[in-house]
Amino acid sequence: MLVKTRFAPSPTGYLHVGGVRTALYCWLFAKHKQGKYILRIEDTDRERSTDVAVKMILDGLAWLGLNADEGPYYQTQRFDRYQEIIEQWLKEGKAYRCYCDKARLEKLRESQLENKEKPRYDGFCRQRQPDNCDAPHVIRFKNPEHGEVIINDLVLGQVIFQNKELDDLIIRRTDGTPTYNFTVIVDDYDMQITHVIRGNDHLNNTPRQINMLKALGFSLPQYAHVPMILGDDGKRLSKRHGAVSVLEFKEMGILPEALLNYLVRLGWSHGDQEIFSIDEMIKFFDLSALNKSPCAFDTEKLLWLNHHYIKTLPADQVAKALLWQFEQMKVKVFSGPDLAEVVLAMRERCKTLKEMAEQSLFFYQDQLVYDEAAKIKHLTTDTLPALKLLTEKLMHLSAWLKEPIKTALAEVGETLGLKMGKYGPAVRVAISGGTQSPSLDITIETLGKEKTIQRLNAAIACITE
Ligand code: GLU
Repeated sequence: MLVKTRFAPSPTGYLHVGGVRTALYCWLFAKHKQGKYILRIEDTDRERSTDVAVKMILDGLAWLGLNADEGPYYQTQRFDRYQEIIEQWLKEGKAYRCYCDKARLEKLRESQLENKEKPRYDGFCRQRQPDNCDAPHVIRFKNPEHGEVIINDLVLGQVIFQNKELDDLIIRRTDGTPTYNFTVIVDDYDMQITHVIRGNDHLNNTPRQINMLKALGFSLPQYAHVPMILGDDGKRLSKRHGAVSVLEFKEMGILPEALLNYLVRLGWSHGDQEIFSIDEMIKFFDLSALNKSPCAFDTEKLLWLNHHYIKTLPADQVAKALLWQFEQMKVKVFSGPDLAEVVLAMRERCKTLKEMAEQSLFFYQDQLVYDEAAKIKHLTTDTLPALKLLTEKLMHLSAWLKEPIKTALAEVGETLGLKMGKYGPAVRVAISGGTQSPSLDITIETLGKEKTIQRLNAAIACITE
């Protein structure tokens, strides 16, 4: 049997990390089983779906590399197919036209609530032949009245629903548009989905969907309902807790490798392993090791993983993500050091690429902007001789490498009888504009000869002006 999974987001807003985790699980499971992973955009709710949201979903998934084997399919392009099934069900007596108006339904609801019953449709139109067939109506699915629906969920275990608790679901609205639970099952049927992996907020939809799938005569898919992701206060993770949209994480300077690694562990484990390459995730991922209980989002752990990947991925690869950050800041990087060199110089100190871009900005500034307090404190007549001597030494350096640069820096102190603590900060302000940068030898080596000399001269001029 070819395993087929699907990720089926509704494009009504940004792509939430919870959705990304579902997509990742669907993608990993399909890859692990050498099956197929499908992307389906559930855009039937025309009022709430937007093209912008579709783009955010596609961009987010592409950024993470969660590419689909099939799709994206769009439900709005499949209306004829939904209509075909509705016609078929009407003929077969599996669905019926319901002419109940708002007033009747409202009255029904009130009397049910008064009798402390759960509000539900009473099946009034099941047998009714109306005088005028063209009068406004919806189509309802004839849900079985007796028996139960047993779900052997791969995460939650056995869950049982009684059919008498379920009423006859509207599958087509008065305006002719199909409804959500119905389109899902037609698609799962047509796309031959074998495993439905989704958030457990959909668990209540599952018995209704199973009954409709049975009406289609489809061997049922297996279900895996994944627990929600919580915020640090135990409530469902939302904007109130901080970043939740996948593109916000990109903006924060999180690497895709780190976010995927973080999300795979948020609800799944393989022994006590924390770091997983994509290949390892594919190799080890299994639905049986999914957690039953919800997990809380832990930003510190995500940052820890991000730092791990910043430090260990090839510098060229990290440099691409750093370039994106500079582009967002509208900083041009062609006039400065190679970005991979900057990554090597900065990666021990930065947990995100945004932080790295901000702290490396000085490498690319044409006109260095001094931190005012640092300038007043360190660019003084006391440090002037050291800056001059260093400039002299660096100009005549045989090779522009960390070691000789380090020697030149030390020799300045020896010649002038000064400790590094006395003139080092002035050198740092001169070349970086502030008091925070990697070690001076590395910063100078990365910055390059021309810029370093130019900046030292500018600092000297600033003091002597
Ligand atoms: N479109 C649904 C959502 O975005 C998912 C439905 C499903 O996975 O069955 O929540």
